[in-house]
Amino acid sequence: MGMEPTTLIILGAGGDLTSRLIVPALAEIADVREGRVVLVGAGRSAEPPESWTDALDQHGLKATWAEADASSPGEVLDLLEQHSGRTVLYLALPPSVTVSLIESFSPGDLPERVSLALEKPFGSDRESAESLDRTLARLLPESRTFRVDHFLGSASVLTLLGLRFANRAIDRLWHREAIERIEIVWEETLALEGRAGYYDSTGALVDMVQSHLLLVSALALMDAPSSLDVDDVRAAVDDLLSTMSLADAPDRASRRARYTSGDVDGEPVPAYVDENDVDPELETETWAEIVLEVDHDRWRGVPIVLRTGKALERDRSEIVAVLREPEEVPSGLHEPRSGETARPAMVRLPLDEERLGVEIDIDLNGAGDPRVLERRVLSTGGGEPRLSAYGEVLTSILSGDRWLSVGGQTAIRCWEIIEPVLRAWSKGEVVIEEYAAGSSGPVLERESTSKVPE
Ligand code: NDP
Repeated sequence: MGMEPTTLIILGAGGDLTSRLIVPALAEIADVREGRVVLVGAGRSAEPPESWTDALDQHGLKATWAEADASSPGEVLDLLEQHSGRTVLYLALPPSVTVSLIESFSPGDLPERVSLALEKPFGSDRESAESLDRTLARLLPESRTFRVDHFLGSASVLTLLGLRFANRAIDRLWHREAIERIEIVWEETLALEGRAGYYDSTGALVDMVQSHLLLVSALALMDAPSSLDVDDVRAAVDDLLSTMSLADAPDRASRRARYTSGDVDGEPVPAYVDENDVDPELETETWAEIVLEVDHDRWRGVPIVLRTGKALERDRSEIVAVLREPEEVPSGLHEPRSGETARPAMVRLPLDEERLGVEIDIDLNGAGDPRVLERRVLSTGGGEPRLSAYGEVLTSILSGDRWLSVGGQTAIRCWEIIEPVLRAWSKGEVVIEEYAAGSSGPVLERESTSKVPE
């Protein structure tokens, strides 16, 4: 890759994100393994935390440790002074600590050789996202600011770009003429897993929908950018998001639920409200669904459903486009209205990191009785991704290319889109439903949110 020698300082390197996702991803990058990137972990403790040293050992990486308290900007600036050349300060801190550190810097504090990488969430509502953006703009130019949302680096999400924009036939199909409804789903078996400190004040809507799923929906629905340069991609994403809004009032276009006790993969899971450190009064949801509409010629009238949940019966993450029925099938061609063709035809794209590719349902006749249609699936895998999602994002940060970095306006707009839902939920205007851990989620009874069959 031949990247400029760079120092990467991870502040908060003793945390879950660093040991579980950042260090393994760094180990995938040749410039890191071969020492062209100097790695520094930093945090409040004088000694490096075990989670950091263990992760480095496990992945065969070398790094130094520095003591620096993020609540003291002077300590962080001193740490930056100790390194020369291009330096990336990666804030892997609790969100509130990130915001107060950024607010405590003064213009001119961050030398030109320093770039800043920060993790989602970018703010905690629209106003705070706007304020964070203004503060960042005072400290350093946008060209040195990287807002990380690793979904943007996921090879399966990036597959969308080639699939849609390099294949005219698919691009024609990707339109309200052919598509009746789109669902973007991230359902997981994982329950709270001891993360109440973070999750109980966040919930499924903010954790997954406000950031990841809205970004994925923008990439899935946007018009073609003229290039993959950061400005063109951001413009296409922002144009799309500016046309997107909740499809109806929050009590009709949003649902929330939390899990009661049950079994996931044969293991007992306590009810969410009985998990350690959960405050039931907060009514935090572990399952959320919103229905959006897009005021754009290509998508007008097509419901866009974003859904996520924890402690569900299985892991499922995909983009599903339900295809419209043909206006008229010549009489004499029969569909056996049972079995496979009983469900609508769909286009499916996996969202998880390991599974690339696309599946398109197609009805064909001829195998048995030539007048009877049978459902077939055209599918292709996309090969092995070269890097994990964090690997792609970190590569782009280390090489100074922002194309996988979230735009400030994008983050603000994503808060704005869910604002009516947040407001209605906090006022208790949308009832919180329940589902048993290990089930497929709350019973879906309303037509507007009926789930596509699998
Ligand atoms: P953790 O709470 O696990 O870790 C935060 C780290 O920050 C800890 O090592 C903590 O050290 C350190 N820290 C806290 N206060 C200070 C301070 N004043 N000075 C220096 N260090 C401090 O959080 P995560 O690693 O889970 O998350 C970090 C960021 O990444 C968050 O913004 C989160 O939203 C985001 N993120 C996390 C994901 C994940 O899966 N974990 C996924 C996607 C994004 P100490 O031990 O001293 O408290």
